[in-house]
Amino acid sequence: MAFGIRRNDQVLITAGKDRGKRGRVIRFEKKKNRVYVEGLNLVTRHLGHQRGVRQSGLTTQEAPLDMSNIRIVCPTCDKPSRIGTRILEDGSKVRICKACDEVLE
Ligand SMILES: [Zn+2]
Repeated sequence: MAFGIRRNDQVLITAGKDRGKRGRVIRFEKKKNRVYVEGLNLVTRHLGHQRGVRQSGLTTQEAPLDMSNIRIVCPTCDKPSRIGTRILEDGSKVRICKACDEVLE
C-alpha cells in the first residue's frame, strides 16, 4: 500500500454498506491491511458474560475495513485524494495531497 495511513486521518469509504461515508481512523493493522473507522462499518455483538458482571443486550463495534476500500480525505482541499510523499530539506518525510499539493498532518 502506497499511502501511509495514520490514526485520526479522515477517510472516505469507497465500498461496502457505508460507501460514501466519512469518518476518522481510530485504529489500523498495517500487516493485515485493515482499518477501523469511528462509527462506521458497525457490527452488532452480543455482550459476553464476564465473571462477576451481569451484562445483557447488544453492543455495536467497528469492524475492520480493507485499506483498498478507503481513501484518505485531504483536510486542505476536502477531497479524497491520492497521497504522495515528499522529502523535506531536513530529511524528514511528509505526506502530501496530490490534488492540492499541501502537506497532510
Ligand atoms: Zn488536498
